[in-house]
Amino acid sequence: MSRRAADCIFCRIVRGEAPSFRVHEDALTLAFLDIAPVSDGHVLVIPRAHFENLFEVTPDVVAAVAVSSRRVAHALRAELAPDGLAVAQLNGEAAGQTVFHYHMHLIPRRHGDGFVFHGRAPGKPERLRELAAALCERIRTAG
Ligand code: AMP
Ligand code: ZN
Repeated sequence: MSRRAADCIFCRIVRGEAPSFRVHEDALTLAFLDIAPVSDGHVLVIPRAHFENLFEVTPDVVAAVAVSSRRVAHALRAELAPDGLAVAQLNGEAAGQTVFHYHMHLIPRRHGDGFVFHGRAPGKPERLRELAAALCERIRTAG
């Protein structure tokens, strides 16, 4: 996976050149459903600007990603009522990072769900579409 912004998949999503199921966006950030979800409702929150990892990202952008993550977390809880919510962020290959554009994972958890970090199969498009629409609506109406 390339580390250059020019061919970064998340930069392509930001520019609208690659598809995504968006659930939230603001001036600095974008949130969309993970294409290979670990669980139903697995969301990624990213900055619009390309930073490789936590070491490169600026404080204002970290703060903006955290604020967006909190908003999306509330929507996920309202929509899916999970038992818990894992928030994870990987830095470097050794930590398991596979897309080198800083991002936060929000992963709804259930008791006994046998959590593994990366999903093995693509999500069903109809479920991703339905869920993205539901979360967009909850975030819009939550203000
Ligand atoms: P990480 O291992 O923390 O870098 O996580 C990268 C995540 O990005 C993985 O969970 C992938 O399933 C997800 N991912 C990769 N490409 C896309 C894409 N085009 N749209 C949505 N999620 C993606
Ligand atoms: Zn990027």
